[in-house]
Amino acid sequence: MIECIFCKILNKEIQSEIVYEDELVCAFKDINPTAPVHILVVPKPHIENLNAVQQQHKELIGHVFLVAKELAKKFGIDEKGYRIVVNCGADGGQTIDHLHFHLLGGRKFSWPAG
Ligand code: ADP
Repeated sequence: MIECIFCKILNKEIQSEIVYEDELVCAFKDINPTAPVHILVVPKPHIENLNAVQQQHKELIGHVFLVAKELAKKFGIDEKGYRIVVNCGADGGQTIDHLHFHLLGGRKFSWPAG
């Protein structure tokens, strides 16, 4: 039994608004957006978080960024700018234990993070 909510989305057991998919990644709209554009780019293998990324995932992680860049263009946030966020672990604010990359844009973000 798969309990991971993102695995269930990737397996189409839970509905989501998928904006891109290929053999390595799936990207869908965040259910609780914190910006006008808020897309999650999710590697298909169940990798818990950045701590679990290994050498063998190098191509996969590079691919995530190329997909995110293309999605930024598709959603019209490439020119003004955007942010890609990976939360890792409890202090990092990670609530879903399947590695994912937040693509955020459409408003101006502050720094440093709160
Ligand atoms: P946080 O919840 O603090 O943002 P994460 O980095 O783990 O921590 O992000 C999980 C993200 O997944 C959240 O932005 C949340 O809104 C989103 N999310 C949770 N359930 C779903 C779902 N069913 N479909 C789309 N996005 C989801």
